[in-house]
Amino acid sequence: MSDARTRLDALPRVRLGFFPTPFVKLERLGRLLGGPRLFMKRDDLTGLALGGNKTRKLEYLLGEALDQGCDSVVTGGAAQSNHCRQTAAAAAATGLECHLALGGEPPESPNGNLLLDQLFGAKIHWCGEGRKGERIPEIAEGLRHAARRPYAIPYGGSNALGAAGFVAAVRELQGDLKKERVEADHLVVASSSGGTQAGLTVGLDLFELHTRVTGIAIDKGETEGPTYESFLADLSNELAVSLGMPARYGTDEFLVRHEYLGLGYGVVGELEREAIRFVAEQEGILLDPVYAGRAMGGLIDLIRQGEFSPGETVVFWHTGGVPALFAHARDLGSQAPAS
Ligand SMILES: *Cc1c(COP(=O)(O)O)cnc(C)c1O
Repeated sequence: MSDARTRLDALPRVRLGFFPTPFVKLERLGRLLGGPRLFMKRDDLTGLALGGNKTRKLEYLLGEALDQGCDSVVTGGAAQSNHCRQTAAAAAATGLECHLALGGEPPESPNGNLLLDQLFGAKIHWCGEGRKGERIPEIAEGLRHAARRPYAIPYGGSNALGAAGFVAAVRELQGDLKKERVEADHLVVASSSGGTQAGLTVGLDLFELHTRVTGIAIDKGETEGPTYESFLADLSNELAVSLGMPARYGTDEFLVRHEYLGLGYGVVGELEREAIRFVAEQEGILLDPVYAGRAMGGLIDLIRQGEFSPGETVVFWHTGGVPALFAHARDLGSQAPAS
């Protein structure tokens, strides 16, 4: 295992965020829910362009891009992609040109993450139906034809190298837990393109923490093709092998709760609204409507169902996404009148 830790440290890396991110106890929330002890890992505060989990992946991905002498990056996602916003900022910070393949059509007045993409000077390619970066290879190919040196980053930054950021994050968590003198029984995290959950899973093994990860699914998987769990297993095995660890992951190692998808990706329902309001009012902490809001809604429901025992400690991994709040103002607005 020490060999794998050495290999992790030897990966190319560029500093983009401020680590460690805060690790806080959710006193009031824990008391009100009457369940396990609750902590939050605040990756909404990574510090890169309003924060988020993609900063950890991008430190490694852009580290490799710079190592390879690339002059541009290409990635993609939904119009309100947090990954694309953080990539645009990271590219600006490292002097790379950024191309984004975004789902949908150009809106009349950009807001939320899209507004920020534009402020960072990203070149936006509107892709209509495809919101998972389907056109990344084609855009990269076009740049190569124009004698550029593009670095392609997959949807969500979720390849083995990006996921390595979450192996390193577990070492950080280990320090947080030591300081608080607690052990984490469970991590609960929004899970969508897989790099976060896969990286955490491999990291928990590498640093020998006895913590179970529960991923709250944010997006339906492909209707055909492999399940999300088998994708997580493949990605984790690839990551493990890249670090010199055994490829020992099977699908049953991944706990993913698929029952909180509501009406689908990015559709804000009562689950997200209630969770966002509750955490804002009780802790003064903002969650986003697409990921962390849904994941917290799931966690609250799991606690109410008695999924975790009162003696246990649960860490909610806040993955960021807060700029998307403003793009969903209509779904979240209407404040109760002061009485
Ligand atoms: C991308 C993202 C996630 C999901 O992480 P994956 O590694 O893609 O599974 C969760 N929360 C937010 C805010 C994100 O932007």
